[in-house]
Amino acid sequence: MKAVVVEQIGSFYYREIDVPRIAPKEVLVRVQVTGLCRTDLKIVRVGHRDLVLPRVPGEEVVGVIDEVGSAVSRFHTGQRVYIYPGTSCGTCHACRTGAGNLCVSMQIMGFHRDGGFAEYVCAPEACLIPIPDQLPDDVAILAEPLSCCLNALDRAALKAGDCVGVWGGGPAGTLIRRAAAARGATSWTIEPHAGRRARAGGFEEAPTDGCDVAVVAVGDAAAYQQALKALRPRGCLVLFSGLSPATACQPLDLNAMHYLEQRVAGAYGCTFDHGAEAIRLLADGSVAVSDMISHRLPLAELDHALGIVERREGMKVLLYP
Ligand SMILES: [Zn+2]
Repeated sequence: MKAVVVEQIGSFYYREIDVPRIAPKEVLVRVQVTGLCRTDLKIVRVGHRDLVLPRVPGEEVVGVIDEVGSAVSRFHTGQRVYIYPGTSCGTCHACRTGAGNLCVSMQIMGFHRDGGFAEYVCAPEACLIPIPDQLPDDVAILAEPLSCCLNALDRAALKAGDCVGVWGGGPAGTLIRRAAAARGATSWTIEPHAGRRARAGGFEEAPTDGCDVAVVAVGDAAAYQQALKALRPRGCLVLFSGLSPATACQPLDLNAMHYLEQRVAGAYGCTFDHGAEAIRLLADGSVAVSDMISHRLPLAELDHALGIVERREGMKVLLYP
């Protein structure tokens, strides 16, 4: 099969490799579509904390089951599925308390095991979420980034009626706002890029009455400082985007947070349940995403696609093997 393989940080090959062999509790999925995000850009160009090489990247995958392992009981060939990218142990403290995404032995598709930038990908049965008939592949593929946004809102304990301030008007920032709307919250966007700001109906500076939840969906330390300033009393700052190691240590006025009873919450990835919720929200139309797809390209054009993401030229870029 044709696949993208990263052997060294900074480059990749698009070449013929063996179709993966499945274990008894796994299925082989024929990839229909994969989504490209800034994390993939990071993986290929500068590496990532969780990346183990060599690797076929791709953590946003929708496909059709082509073969099932001997111990698979709930799925059959021909079924359309979204693959939740994580595999957790189920027994560690994080897993037992509902934080499977923080499992001590977490294995992520496209990071620790091969992902969907290929014609076929191997997936454990436990990671499969069936796609309802009315939900097209091109919409279902947004389940992965949407799941991460749902996790961010959960970490903030977002309530209906809250106001969410989002830093960054790209795909993640847009999905956070739509997920927040589905939960009965209002929102606004801060976006420095004029084109994206116009599309998002966003602002250059935070409105003076601030927000209850501030989500920073751009890897920019200055955005974090602005978000903190915009936070209302009892507000929650969500650390959604990672920063470069050089800028990760930021001063924090703990007294200001003490007097205003504010909170800071990290958010990284998503749980299986967020994946199932995302598929439900996409299928019943609670979160619409079709207008967010700006590019559809063959997987062979990954280098060109990465350039689009890097230059922030589009919104969501989809790849077809
Ligand atoms: Zn675990």
